[in-house]
Amino acid sequence: MTRPVPLRGAAFTLPALVSLLTVAFLVPAEGRAQQPKATAKASPTEAALDRLAKQPAVAKALTALQRENEWTLTEQIALCEIPAPPFKEAARAIAFRDKLAALGVQKLRIDREGNVIGEIKGTAPGPTLVLSGHLDTVFPEGTNVKVKREGSKLSAPGIGDDCRGLAAVLATTRQIIANKIPFNGRVLVVGTMGEEGPGNLRGVRALFSGALKDSIDMFISIDGTGFGITNGAVGSNRYRVAYKGPGGHSYGAFGMPNPIHAMGRAIAKIADLEATANPKVTFNVGLVSGGTSVNSISAEGVMDIDLRSESASALADIDAKLHAALRKALAEEKARWPKSTVPLALVIDTTGLRPAGTTPDTTFIVRTSLAAARTMNVYAPLTISSTDANIPISKGIAAVTLDGGGVGRGAHSLDESYDDRTDGYKGPQWILLVVIGLLTAH
Ligand SMILES: [Zn+2]
Repeated sequence: MTRPVPLRGAAFTLPALVSLLTVAFLVPAEGRAQQPKATAKASPTEAALDRLAKQPAVAKALTALQRENEWTLTEQIALCEIPAPPFKEAARAIAFRDKLAALGVQKLRIDREGNVIGEIKGTAPGPTLVLSGHLDTVFPEGTNVKVKREGSKLSAPGIGDDCRGLAAVLATTRQIIANKIPFNGRVLVVGTMGEEGPGNLRGVRALFSGALKDSIDMFISIDGTGFGITNGAVGSNRYRVAYKGPGGHSYGAFGMPNPIHAMGRAIAKIADLEATANPKVTFNVGLVSGGTSVNSISAEGVMDIDLRSESASALADIDAKLHAALRKALAEEKARWPKSTVPLALVIDTTGLRPAGTTPDTTFIVRTSLAAARTMNVYAPLTISSTDANIPISKGIAAVTLDGGGVGRGAHSLDESYDDRTDGYKGPQWILLVVIGLLTAH
């Protein structure tokens, strides 16, 4: 996941923070997110999940997740120590598949994109729910992924994002099967390829464009740590933009359009783009390159640009403004040297497109996720992020990304850590309750 974890509606100004703390003080922590209600009765969904948690098979599974917490951590460490750089996730995929096979997951396969897919069949007909984690990391080949353990704290690149998610998927799957929990429909247990930046969600895209594309009713990605529910998908458009010309001597060839100057004009226009705060819209020139020496007109000026928003229309709007700015910069640089016949070209490569969207707070999948958190006595905020759920969310399929419990630090950095503390097991417990809750009629 690429996750700044903005808390929806929480713009931590001092008065807001004070009122948040006041609310937190007055009502149980788990009631904070959606309904600050001291007196309200449990919703039908909450009552149903309370009953579900007490059903013998479910209760046994929840107890086992706590008692056998060490199993979950062992799997998390084992998966993390298999390197999974972008586009080189295959070894971890095979290990994940073999672990699912050992748990009794049926119909296991690795699809054309490299996703691991297996199935737990329910006890009655019903919907198809995907429970997935992503196999890839952001770390290049050669990164030391040996896990260091100090008490409940595990440290290694990728230990939280997304080895925690994968381990939570394994632990949940294990208890659903071992306790023969009854449910309707089927759970597709999935490990996806290419969730992180360069992968551009290629695994989950393949999942929703391949053989299963019309048969998935609900999608849950387990990604990261804590107890957040991501139901808002931050969309992003990414481009590598190049201005190109023949180049020449800075003195001898002077008087021709200059690709780096054109890029400079473009950057100045991008820097001045108007972006709304709500919905949030962002733009960034993150990398620039070009040129060979101080006394050469460069043959090219190249930059990488990232645009983001949680709103599809706002993203389309800033995208149109960006393209206009790029073309205007080209025209201005050409106009600067009207006598020159030297060509100047603008080349735009799309390097990433992640669709935006929202699974509304009122949908069954979000309400069930919130209600299950309350049953678990944990506080689960709704968040907006860029995850595998972007793809199903943009297609209008009920989808969320849930955190895997515990406390994570430093995702995407070499100092990444995951602390299980005393209640990391509540992550898999929560996930199990959400999955079975969604596949149980009530
Ligand atoms: Zn992730």
